[in-house]
Amino acid sequence: MPLIDIPSELIDLRDSFRQFLDREVRPVEEPYRQDLLEGRFDWVKEERRKLRKRSAELGFWSLHMPEEIGGMGLSHLGQVLLFEEGTGHGLVLAHGESILPVVAGPTPVYVDCTEAQREKYLAPLMTADKTTCFALTEPEAGSDATRIRTRAEKAGDDWVLNGRKHFITAGDEADFALVFAVTDPEKRAKGGITAFLVDTDTPGFTVTRTQRTMSPLQNPVELTFEDVRVPGGNVLGEVGFGFYSAVKGINGARLQIAATALGIARDLLNRMIEHAGGRIAFGRPIGANQYVQGHIVDSYAELEQARLLVYRCADDIDRGADGRREAALAKLVATEMVGRVADRCIQVHGGQGFMTELGLEVWYREVRAMRLYEGTSEILRTNVAKTLGLPVD
Ligand SMILES: Cc1cc2nc3c(=O)[nH]c(=O)nc-3n(C[C@H](O)[C@H](O)[C@H](O)COP(=O)(O)OP(=O)(O)OC[C@H]3O[C@@H](n4cnc5c(N)ncnc54)[C@H](O)[C@@H]3O)c2cc1C
Repeated sequence: MPLIDIPSELIDLRDSFRQFLDREVRPVEEPYRQDLLEGRFDWVKEERRKLRKRSAELGFWSLHMPEEIGGMGLSHLGQVLLFEEGTGHGLVLAHGESILPVVAGPTPVYVDCTEAQREKYLAPLMTADKTTCFALTEPEAGSDATRIRTRAEKAGDDWVLNGRKHFITAGDEADFALVFAVTDPEKRAKGGITAFLVDTDTPGFTVTRTQRTMSPLQNPVELTFEDVRVPGGNVLGEVGFGFYSAVKGINGARLQIAATALGIARDLLNRMIEHAGGRIAFGRPIGANQYVQGHIVDSYAELEQARLLVYRCADDIDRGADGRREAALAKLVATEMVGRVADRCIQVHGGQGFMTELGLEVWYREVRAMRLYEGTSEILRTNVAKTLGLPVD
């Protein structure tokens, strides 16, 4: 088991990313402080869009992409360090596809694109001139995505799509969507599901509704396709094998979410420590009480454990591990951890923690979704169980 030795150039990169946060993200968020404290978030989407572009100009947005297409081939360990740093300072605008991409960025397209698609779709994603969304989930098919019903039928050289997707992050902002549809109902996941690059201004493509969630930072949408005509050249990867494209980027995304959880937990832990030292009850700081210390020390211990695991998993992937077990394990442990830390953080702040005006409850609500998207905790356990040789399907 190699020790994790973080190269100095990654530490330097993280430092320059932190400077970017301080110099260009914090000052944008600061004027909205009152909105944040009163629980208003309608400004977030537009500011995120602008910051995304700025992050791309500075090279952070596409750092993880290969050098031959304009990225820097940043390692998984490097990505983890940046994602953790991004959310480690309590900045709403540093989170959620604003300065570092998970699904709205270039990765899902890069894995299988042709030269023509590279120019038309990948290049503007690299520079954040366009955004995309990943449209797989349907009302009847979530964890078991093999059951999707959206249908694509051949019409000459084109394909015609009909169906409905839901819970699609950034689906209302995307210039084009990566849509998964059944092209052979007999084969389904075994050669019958195809991925399509669909321009969102194509007739028949509609954002039917925004789906309100328990987190104001998450507003996925429902998409409906009615006779949406897609050129044959917009098939991503091989016809019938879109499902393979869907899973290729998943390890990276799971690690990024795990690292995001580390950052949020780090910030909430710091908030707990600060509050416990200053809040007086019964004549002394609440942090002098062992029950309160327990909340903080347990959070600290779990964060440290999760961080070691996430770094180690990222490093293992960089050293050639297959990644399925590593990414599932990292996301499972880190997202479960941040849920507990967020809960304790509210508890340590007492009633104030429950009010919007401390800006804490928004994270409590936000982190709840992390155990659902990119593989629920149950599915991740199943993924890990498989790698342990347990008898799962
Ligand atoms: C905020 C948010 C954003 C999202 N963004 C996107 C997006 O951009 N694109 C996209 O395509 N999807 C997106 N999703 C959808 C997400 O991927 C699904 O919600 C997730 O895959 C679970 O599917 P489901 O909600 O249908 O739950 P179900 O699959 O119905 O699962 C319900 C419960 O059963 C459990 N379960 C199911 N099967 C098993 C099993 N075999 N073993 C053990 N337990 C099982 C699940 O773990 C869960 O607890 C998003 C979801 C959320 C909440």
